[in-house]
This record gives sequence, structure tokens and C-alpha cells, in this order.
Amino acid sequence: MQFIETRGNDGLRPKEVSFSEAILNPAASYGGLYVPKSLPALDLQEYREDDYKSMALKVLKKFNIDIDEELLKEAVDLYDRFDDPSNPVPLVKVDEKLHIAELYHGPTRAFKDMALQPFGHILSALAHQRGENYLILAATSGDTGPATLETFKNKPNIKVACLYPAGGTSDVQRLQMVTEEGKNLKVIGIEGDFDDAQSALKNLLGSAKFKEILAQKGIRLSAANSVNFGRIIFQILYHIHAYLELLRRGVIQMGQKIDLIVPSGNFGNALGGYYAKKMGVPIDKILIASNDNNVLTQLIREGRYDLRGKKLIKTSSPAMDILKSSNVERVLFDKFGPSRTRELMESLNDRGYYELTKEELAQIQEDFDADYTTDQEVKEVIKEYAQKGYLMDPHTATTIKLNRGERQKVAYSTAEWTKFAPTVLEALTGERNVRDLEALEKVAKLMNLSIPEPISQLFSKPIIHDTVVPKDRIEEEIVAFL
Ligand SMILES: *Cc1c(COP(=O)(O)O)cnc(C)c1O
Repeated sequence: MQFIETRGNDGLRPKEVSFSEAILNPAASYGGLYVPKSLPALDLQEYREDDYKSMALKVLKKFNIDIDEELLKEAVDLYDRFDDPSNPVPLVKVDEKLHIAELYHGPTRAFKDMALQPFGHILSALAHQRGENYLILAATSGDTGPATLETFKNKPNIKVACLYPAGGTSDVQRLQMVTEEGKNLKVIGIEGDFDDAQSALKNLLGSAKFKEILAQKGIRLSAANSVNFGRIIFQILYHIHAYLELLRRGVIQMGQKIDLIVPSGNFGNALGGYYAKKMGVPIDKILIASNDNNVLTQLIREGRYDLRGKKLIKTSSPAMDILKSSNVERVLFDKFGPSRTRELMESLNDRGYYELTKEELAQIQEDFDADYTTDQEVKEVIKEYAQKGYLMDPHTATTIKLNRGERQKVAYSTAEWTKFAPTVLEALTGERNVRDLEALEKVAKLMNLSIPEPISQLFSKPIIHDTVVPKDRIEEEIVAFL
């Protein structure tokens, strides 16, 4: 399986690259992304009785990528680190027509582990095989940071520098980062918000001086964000699993269509659902759930991606506080081809918007619908479902509004409530501004739950990374670390 570029080829790099090339060097021509040249077609009967790992390995093999079977197996075996190794993604029935697929049972309690655990193992193994050293730069609003550190800690040939906004994450998210051990990890709090962290990272990537220092030390740069196809490939698998699980439970018959509801930010999760549909999973619509940052709702409903005059709004679902949703580009490419994709993306960069034609919008709406949920509605949903006995985090709560119509639906739960305990407590009792530890204890007591160990132990672990610097000192800190 070869990979091609969403914005076409600039003549300076190969027209097609292998999977390992695409994940080690994810930047494609004209600022585009790598996509598979074609997708394998699946016969779901083949996987009907498989557990998650067996299904995963068989589907990955169908992609025919340049990764040894042994390495793929090791990567998939990392799902053994999830709460229930035999079923890393449990489905819970919460309504007559709605199951929630819980993607957060990995080490850092958010769905980023689903892809970053196996991806990190493969990236490090490839770097090691090639005798190359990589620096992974990550800027995080709270979930990507912990999952990136966790997957790469003590891995050969990889160093990670992770930037987070000091004061801009929950206590749990911050502690997950600053208590992480591993000689190859550097965690830096910056005085600023997530946008500052992200633009600091972009400046570094563009800095000639920084590149020269890396080159002298024989270090290459790579990225672990969800534009890396090495993450997307693992995000196709759980959509297949969800369908098979509904089949096995007799909720649906083979071939019966379901809808997926996906709390979306950078669109990696939703893209995985779209690819699963194209590979033959009977999915009717992928329903995109957003918060007040509702650019995706506008795109899918009206055909306009419009950032003009829009400012990022801080919500109770911070992992979805995104205006430029990177993976939409892969859908544009799939539907409209490279030259139109390049035109649309350049319009977005240069003019802050693009507009689809009526026919193009109709094509998008064949696969997608969308809606968004305000913070107030999020709290109401959390409370309503808690009273029915199901506790969910604010990101998951944005899916419920899209639970309408006749079809059976799978909504994805992308984080455990424990990562956002203050918001959950406020939803349940109205108490505001309670710090994480106290909120965790109060919610656990109210709901008669226990706080999972990876979360409770954070509060007594030693702080390893205490660096907090202004934006202009980041480069210095990273260079000193290298
Ligand atoms: C990253 C994240 C999302 C958004 O997922 P995308 O694949 O970027 O759309 C949603 N919820 C949580 C909790 C996340 O960590």
C-alpha cells in the first residue's frame, strides 16, 4: 500500500511513499497530508467472532503496509494495557437505540491512547531499525500531551518535548504530564494559552537556527498529532469493532446500517469512521458533534468553512476547542481530488474561508450530518444520564443531541469523567470552581464509584517537570534538554 498527497505533488519529493515514510515524515507537498492510495475492502463475516486484537491485526494486514507482522502484533498487544485486555472498547447500552463505545480505558483515560499506544511503538521501532533519532514536538490542550508522553517514555531513538499552557489544563491533565518519568521526555509549561503553545511549536518548526542545532546533533523532527496517518489507521479499527459488537449482541442484523456519533475536534476520529464506511462497514451517517466552536456544523450543514471574525471559545470540552480541523482535508481529497483540495485549503489559509458548491455539499451530506451543544446543554445531559446511572464526561455529552431518528447508533465516549471532574460535579450539584481532587472524591461518592488508580495516584506522585517559562525561552529549554 502506497501513500499519496492531498494537495498533489510539488516535484520535490516522491509521488508515492510507503507507510513508514509517511509516518516518519508526515509533511506532504504544499502543506498537504498523506492518504492511502486505496482502502482495502472488508468482508465483515471474516471478523464476526474475533476479539478486538485479532480483528485489529487481520484488518491491519489487509492494508499491506511495510511493517513486519511481528511489529504489528507487538503494537496491537499494547491494548493489553487497557482495563480489560479481552475487550479494550466496551459498548454500553444507554437508550433504546443508542450504545456508547468507551474509548478511554487506556493508561491516560482519554481516547488518544487508542491510537498513540500502538503508533508510538511502531514509530520508535522504525527509527531504531533505521538508526535514526527523532524529536517529537507536541503542543497539548490536555489529552494529547499525556498520551504522547506515555507511549514514548523510555523508547529508543525518540525524544519528546511537550508544551502545555500553564494554568490552562485540568489538575489531572497537568499532573499526568509533570509526573511522567522517562529520561527522553521534557515537559514545558508556557506562560500563555493553548494557541500560544501551538504557535510556539510552529515557530520552532520554522526556525532555521533550531533546525541547524538539530541537524548538528543528528536529530530529525517528526509529529505525533492526528495529521499523522500512523494514528488514523488505528482509529479505523474501533468503528469496525463497534459494528461487530452490535451484531454479536443481536442488536442489528448483518448489513443493517447504523449511524456513528463522534465528538470532534481535529476530525481524526470521524475520519476513521468515514474510512470504515468506505471499507464496507454498513454505516449510514457519521454525525459530527461539536461544542460552541461550531465550524464543523456550519461546514456540514451549509457548505462553508468560515473562520472570518471567529475567535476560539473556551468550553467545558477543551479537546474540541478547535477552529482549524486538520483531517477534514482528507475527506475533501477523497471526494474532490487534489487540485480542488489544494484550492480550498489555500483559500482557507489566505482568506480565512472556503465555500463548497451545491453539488459538493450534497456529496459531503451523503456521509455526514452535524450539530453542536452548548456548555449549559452539556451539563444538563450529564445530569440526566447520571440520574439514569450512566456517568459521562463533557466531550461525550455533546453526542446526545444527535441521538435522533430510527437507526441504531453508536456514540463514542472519548474521555473518562475523571479527567473533567470539576465540570461533572457542577453538572450534578451546581457546585462551581471545585479543584480536581475534591471534585473527584465528591462525584465518586455521589455516584458510588471508585476513582481509578491511574488517576488517584497522580496526586501523591513526585513532580518531575517543574519548568514553566515565557514563550521566548522555549527554544532554549528544548536545546538544553537535547
Ligand atoms: C482529541 C479529543 C477529541 C477530538 O478528537 P478528534 O479526533 O481530534 O476529532 C474529543 N474528545 C476528547 C476527550 C479528546 O481528547
